[in-house]
Amino acid sequence: MSKASQSALQRYQARREGRLAASPSRTRRRTVRPGVLLAVAILLLASAAAGGWYVLREPAPLNLDYEIDLSDAPRGSLDLHLVLTGDLPRHLDLVFPPGFFGDPDSGVDANTPTAQAVDGQGRRGRSLAVARTDDGWRVSTDGVDQVAFGYRVDLSPPDHLEHDIRRFISNPVNGGVRVAGFEIFLVPLGRPVGDITVSLRNPDDLPVLTPWPPLVREPARTPAIPDSAGLAHLGDGRSYLPVEARGRRATAPRPTPPESPEASRVFHPRDLADLNNALLVCGNLRTASTKARDCDIRFATDRRWLFADDEALDLVRRVARTEVGFFGSAPSPRITVLLAANEVSTPERFDTYGAHTGSSVLVMIDARTTWGELEDQAASVIAHEMFHGWLGEAIPQEDPAMLWFTEGATTWYAARMLTAAGVWSPDHARRVLQRRLERDYEQNRLLGERAVADVAADVMSDDAEAVRFAYAGGVAVCVALDSWLARHGGLERPLDGVLRHLYNTRDGRPLTRASLETAVYEVTGVDCAPWLDSHVYGKTALPLPEDLI
Ligand SMILES: [Zn+2]
Repeated sequence: MSKASQSALQRYQARREGRLAASPSRTRRRTVRPGVLLAVAILLLASAAAGGWYVLREPAPLNLDYEIDLSDAPRGSLDLHLVLTGDLPRHLDLVFPPGFFGDPDSGVDANTPTAQAVDGQGRRGRSLAVARTDDGWRVSTDGVDQVAFGYRVDLSPPDHLEHDIRRFISNPVNGGVRVAGFEIFLVPLGRPVGDITVSLRNPDDLPVLTPWPPLVREPARTPAIPDSAGLAHLGDGRSYLPVEARGRRATAPRPTPPESPEASRVFHPRDLADLNNALLVCGNLRTASTKARDCDIRFATDRRWLFADDEALDLVRRVARTEVGFFGSAPSPRITVLLAANEVSTPERFDTYGAHTGSSVLVMIDARTTWGELEDQAASVIAHEMFHGWLGEAIPQEDPAMLWFTEGATTWYAARMLTAAGVWSPDHARRVLQRRLERDYEQNRLLGERAVADVAADVMSDDAEAVRFAYAGGVAVCVALDSWLARHGGLERPLDGVLRHLYNTRDGRPLTRASLETAVYEVTGVDCAPWLDSHVYGKTALPLPEDLI
């Protein structure tokens, strides 16, 4: 595979959220039927008779306070402390994403668990028993109200046993570490979660970046190091929720987390999805910033490249300006592009790999990439991942049956945005798309055998040919849909209007086939459902589209 851009974060997130979202109390509430009510009534009587009312009481949400200690980050390790407050079960399961914990190939090793009871004054007391489980650890809480749980995360690349770049999102970097939230934060299983905070302990004042979410609050005691000094600094002065607002959702009073009064409480995720989606980088980082309209555009890296930071920043700015201009506004106040070295060296590796977290982008490229290669090849991954800030995040992608559109349109528009930004010539863009469509759609064994939407729904599959068919098929059907709508509705590039309409009327609900069809109808007056049935959700092959750029 020469190139890929997938959101590995999404895969883990989906798996993890899918499991955690099914908290028993919430599921029960949604699916109550008369027969169940009767059974519940009988059970209620029985437990009332037994004095066991608590059996049916909704457990109060657990509040989670994480502290990340960066003391050993330059040596590739983090120490995490989690204080859990609330209605603690007697056996508290703390988990990593399923299949991740204890996998020697993951490159992230969580170890040395400790658990202690915490009293009402925040003092740590006796130790609690901890046992290993498949996905994490089980703590015997012994009826205490608060538990302090500590563990260490060592980030060391596996000996390239598995040549999968997706294993390297969390990795040591120059002078520190890069970590994805879903790979370092243990979370309680099967319990509703209330308020979440994350603080950093940074005794050596390492430069820290949290490209997404823009959650870091400037600690008053630390003067900001201006970007012009060429160093990353802690804090964007923003947070999803003001830290003071925590009282509104907190259900139990919490003392200040003990042990590290010097830690600054800085993140305030809205929910577990935010926590999972966080990306944190610390170490010898350099950043450069500029503006596209009122959006801060930031380039960050931990190494020297064969091109200058200013050149890379300018490329990022041109792409961002074009995409912001296309949609009319930025999806977030800041877009960070983090450029890192791809250290996987095998013939079948991804040359360039991109992932997005929110509207920020992590791009891993060969350490010897030249300026020309950055423009010709890596730029499309930057443009693609950045485009997901609108299509994928602002217009949320959750339903796998819509991945054909989210990935197909994003891949196609990335090439068009690079052309509009003057990074690619129209001829180059046409050649790149043409080659990809011929090889991965027209000549793919799956053409006519499987529906594009079905293959795209499993885009994280390990079948490389299917993944290529998903992306190229997505482009083919999006371009063909655009031409078909132009013929029937009379508009020029109607899909542009559909995308802007979806963005401008967004309400946080995920994209669905119905919402796409409605948007198409509202913009063009055309009902595209039968066409989608045939070419996207059905197997009818399309001729290679011509109007690519
Ligand atoms: Zn994508």
